[in-house]
Amino acid sequence: MSETQLQRARSGELTAAMKRVAERESRDPETVRRAVAEGRAVIPNNHEHDVLDPMIIGREFATKVNANIGNSETTSNPEEELRKLHAAVHYGADTVMDLSTGANLDSIRETNVQHAPVPVGTVPIYEAVTRVDDVADLTPELLLDVIEKQARQGVDYMTVHAGVLLEHVPLTNGRKTGIVSRGGSILAKWMEENDAQNPLYTHFERICAIFAEYDVTFSLGDGLRPGCLADACDDAQFAELETLGELTRTARDHGVQVMVEGPGHVPMDDIEMNVERQQEVCDGAPFYVLGPLVTDIAPGYDHITSAIGATEAARAGAAMLCYVTPKEHLGLPEEEDVRDGLAAYRIAAHAADVATGQPGARDWDDALSEARYEFDWSRQFELALDPERARAYHDQSLPGDNYKKARYCSMCGVEFCSMRIDQDARAVDGDMESIDSETDLTDSPAAAANLPPTGTHDMRSVPDLPSFAEHASEGHGDD
Ligand code: SF4
Repeated sequence: MSETQLQRARSGELTAAMKRVAERESRDPETVRRAVAEGRAVIPNNHEHDVLDPMIIGREFATKVNANIGNSETTSNPEEELRKLHAAVHYGADTVMDLSTGANLDSIRETNVQHAPVPVGTVPIYEAVTRVDDVADLTPELLLDVIEKQARQGVDYMTVHAGVLLEHVPLTNGRKTGIVSRGGSILAKWMEENDAQNPLYTHFERICAIFAEYDVTFSLGDGLRPGCLADACDDAQFAELETLGELTRTARDHGVQVMVEGPGHVPMDDIEMNVERQQEVCDGAPFYVLGPLVTDIAPGYDHITSAIGATEAARAGAAMLCYVTPKEHLGLPEEEDVRDGLAAYRIAAHAADVATGQPGARDWDDALSEARYEFDWSRQFELALDPERARAYHDQSLPGDNYKKARYCSMCGVEFCSMRIDQDARAVDGDMESIDSETDLTDSPAAAANLPPTGTHDMRSVPDLPSFAEHASEGHGDD
């Protein structure tokens, strides 16, 4: 039986995945091995996921971003899902979670794994629920069957809400928004109706055995995460966190890699404390956070409310950010929402990487600033996080090729372009120093890892389908 990345790291082996990760992050392979061996980082890498381009999730590496894809009860088909996968990877997702709950679950999952160069995550309880008439009819054997099958299909990491215990549920009484995690609410209902402990907790070691066989990474779900600011940091959230710490140690004892999911909605001034507490309770296991949203007042803009929290969380030590789209709380995201959500989260991740001093992170900013000051518009678009949007916005008012070297844009106009005025002043006034513009991205690790539009993922496995945008406009959108 093949061993997990964790087991091999502990025995001192430098695996091909560790070497590839080291190359992508411009780190010493031994640094990668040690982080994995100590559980501070994970390399989700199911033995059955052949086309995966390995990546690493850990606070000392570049902050990663996950995008959720998947169908609902009303759509869709494997080809449709492949378009979503393509859009997510194209716009820079480091991992994708297939949260499908509709038809064709197996073929969609298998197709995604066959084509995804990034790790694929799932929440197996979603499929288990589709197989019963009532949540209360779920059985431990059914849950384990689904988990084992998805592991065999090549899923790299799974959200398992094993930390929601029977005794935690009453702690949610008095909340403003109750239990907002799908998995958490399903398990709470099951425990209430069966008057029994969470089967994912009681059978956790059997799940560990499956995960060890395929090298599936745990993403220990936060089923009692707060759904609004008023419920943040309450007894229910932190009681579950204690259990997640216990489960982290159990999984590691079985040689299984672990990351831990985090809240939800948290006031800005509590985010750092949340990250530090998770790191302490879970012995440094990578923290994978959903946002968090720092205010509840802006439905329609929750990619922004949550990206603010995500930036703060990543600066404080969160390792991966689960994106939120503008449709959060309102409806299923479409392609433009995926694009906006991913842009917001890649900005959050990069801003945190600049703040924490990730090697070379600032080079990208500096190179773009230099292109901007030099009025090299084409280079500025090339370096933009979303080149297509930057170019489109510029060309709305000044579309001609002659404007790609123009010393102004339509924002201030030719007379009031401060950068042009500054340059002219420097040319005539010998007292003003010239401007330094020497950032060389060819030697920049962060630029190598981040340059748009696709990062360094090996994209050869993703089929070159018509763009999701074109397809959506033909009436086959992501709904
Ligand atoms: S016109 Fe204004 S916004 Fe445009 S390049 Fe000049 S300074 Fe920048």
